[in-house]
Amino acid sequence: MKFGGTSMAGIERIRSVAARVKREAAAGNQVAVVVSAMAGETDRLVGFCREASPLYDPREYDVVVSAGEQITSGLLAIALQAIDVPARSLLGWQLPIRTDTAFAKARIDTIDTDALEESFAAGAVAVIPGFQGVAPGQRITTLGRGGSDTSAVAVAAAIRADRCDIYTDVDGVYTTDPRIVPRARKLAKVTYEEMLELASVGAKVLQTRSVGLAMKEKVRVQVLSSFTDADAPMADTLPGTMIVGEEEAAFKENGDVERQLITGIAHDKNEAKITLTRVPDQPGTVASIFEPLAAANINVDMIIQNIAHQSASNGASSTSATDVTFTVPAADLARSIEALNQSREAIGFGELIHDTRVAKISVVGVGMRSHAGVASTMFTTLGARGINIQAISTSEIKVSVLIHEDETELAVRVLHTAYGLDAEAA
Ligand code: ASP
Ligand code: MG
Repeated sequence: MKFGGTSMAGIERIRSVAARVKREAAAGNQVAVVVSAMAGETDRLVGFCREASPLYDPREYDVVVSAGEQITSGLLAIALQAIDVPARSLLGWQLPIRTDTAFAKARIDTIDTDALEESFAAGAVAVIPGFQGVAPGQRITTLGRGGSDTSAVAVAAAIRADRCDIYTDVDGVYTTDPRIVPRARKLAKVTYEEMLELASVGAKVLQTRSVGLAMKEKVRVQVLSSFTDADAPMADTLPGTMIVGEEEAAFKENGDVERQLITGIAHDKNEAKITLTRVPDQPGTVASIFEPLAAANINVDMIIQNIAHQSASNGASSTSATDVTFTVPAADLARSIEALNQSREAIGFGELIHDTRVAKISVVGVGMRSHAGVASTMFTTLGARGINIQAISTSEIKVSVLIHEDETELAVRVLHTAYGLDAEAA
């Protein structure tokens, strides 16, 4: 069982988490619990480090920011003991959870399960602070923001748990953002790959790394609500969304509702579009654009190249020219422009045009591997609403388009209907 910061924010909430844990244990389950710091606490601790020195030592930063989880794990153990559940905390260095030395963004190498097995054998609940580990040389590490999800999946993998239940502010993963489409449906199951696509394009329920780890280690993960009362359904009845492998996600022969071709629709307003005009149409030019971006560690996402009919701004007048358009994270736009301007001579572009008023809309589903027509339905549906497509990218299980930001809600709504995802009217 993993509980996020909202569930741990205050003693009252920690008590109800304890009650929830007791109920699962009383049902005959062996339970290990992973906890986050109280909501807002990690931000506060990060703030102290910055205030102490903008050039803080990351090894000491990890000592400071890992403290939030140390507090909540101790408090939950106390709250469990108070309702007669034997419990103890096991900190990252005590288990231990061994990581590499990438302080502030460490990766887990191994987890020793002896102490956990002992606590199971003794009928006790182990409470493990998420987010923290220990590096060679006995120094505390943290796993990057949102890392408690990864801790939980890693612990589940190490003990070969039947399930990793992630209790959070939402009661599952939806076909799209319910704030945009009230008739969005909660998904009973989603595959790891779909979840990775949905998470990376904006449906931020879990730290993306935790999903990758679950996929690699085949950990069955359930996302479910922490905001339910004492008579809420038991986790074993799978009230949330299961994130599982493709075999388990496949629909049953009879009875069960057939899986839709498309699992979900995601939107992401955090990209920016850059167009370089009148780039010489010759071998090596595209490389000269993307090399400086790669060197600056900037992730390029969508790329399109248009044949333009003018000639290039440099070189002989006979050279034909093209426009190259691509997207980068909006947060990296300024650095991208700087890197491109520095390479202006080498690339030989005319103008650099940028636009942050764009949104990426993605339709995601493993079903499209074996079905044609998914992309054409998307383009037809958007075209019928007069929504212009500025760029396109595809993968085996995803089609994404770039559109004007103001049309995000409309696009998500019409696509949700077009792919048959709307829930029956209540
Ligand atoms: N407390 C850490 C953070 O806020 C880790 C987590 O909650 O997942 O990033
Ligand atoms: Mg989180």
